[in-house]
Amino acid sequence: MANYQFISTQPEETKDFAKRLAGLLKEGDVIALEGDLGAGKTTFTKGLAEGLGITRNVNSPTFTIIKEYQGRLPLYHMDVYRVEDAFEDLGFEEYFEGNGVTVVEWAHLIEAQLPQELLLLQLYLDDNGARRVVVEPKGKRYEELCEEIF
Ligand code: ADP
Ligand code: MG
Repeated sequence: MANYQFISTQPEETKDFAKRLAGLLKEGDVIALEGDLGAGKTTFTKGLAEGLGITRNVNSPTFTIIKEYQGRLPLYHMDVYRVEDAFEDLGFEEYFEGNGVTVVEWAHLIEAQLPQELLLLQLYLDDNGARRVVVEPKGKRYEELCEEIF
């Protein structure tokens, strides 16, 4: 499976990529985000929300784990950093299979509960302060999505 990557030197570049991606998303799509604190996971999600026509401010759902926003499609924004039991059923599946787009920050922490097919984004902080974004499609739907966007 092909991987794609790009360098983002500013928050706006990360957001612009997310906005372009948002235009191609459809219900049931799932995006898994990995990367250290400050790598840009929430920044990406803000851009995605903008691209979905969501006007409410999106911030990290630190205590709530899941936040829902209304746009062209609903956006389910999860930050599972504080999930203590990787197998605990917090109703994730209903979101993954719902009418919206799901974004999961720190997705590996609930790996066993993730759908097999998703778009994986790994954000790395480079030494010079830039972010390297590695995009890995898992499954045909996401391979096609990547072919369209890259
Ligand atoms: P995370 O959710 O991964 O912890 P955030 O998106 O909350 O990260 O924070 C990223 C921080 O880094 C923000 O303050 C953002 O403005 C800054 N930043 C600097 N350069 C970039 C970039 N190229 N892409 C994303 N964020 C960046
Ligand atoms: Mg975050």
